[in-house]
Amino acid sequence: MAAYYCKRCGAKFDSLPDLLNNSWPPCADNGKHQLFEGEESSKYYCKLCGADFDSLPDLLNNSWPPCANNGKHQAFEGKVSGQWLCKHCGKDFNNLPDLLRNSCSASPSGNHQPKR
Ligand SMILES: [Zn+2]
Ligand SMILES: [Zn+2]
Ligand SMILES: [Zn+2]
Repeated sequence: MAAYYCKRCGAKFDSLPDLLNNSWPPCADNGKHQLFEGEESSKYYCKLCGADFDSLPDLLNNSWPPCANNGKHQAFEGKVSGQWLCKHCGKDFNNLPDLLRNSCSASPSGNHQPKR
């Protein structure tokens, strides 16, 4: 059965309307959960630090103040299999942390950023 996850809190729903129509004010300005658009896989990654987790709720509920205003990791929603490509220069890496830690002259942030 398909599963849909909220990318803010990690709540799981069996249908997309359930997710989108369920009120949950902490998750967004509109008071609703936000759909996680990444692929379902055995690993979930933080898009800011590259940490990996076995489940989306684990990632989202793990406190890690450097990663975002809310003090939590932020889910990466791109493709998670194969090579990681920088969306600015196209260089490829074997894993996300390597990509995020290296500097990129083409990127506005100064570091490579993953392509979705
Ligand atoms: Zn939510
Ligand atoms: Zn993180
Ligand atoms: Zn780059």
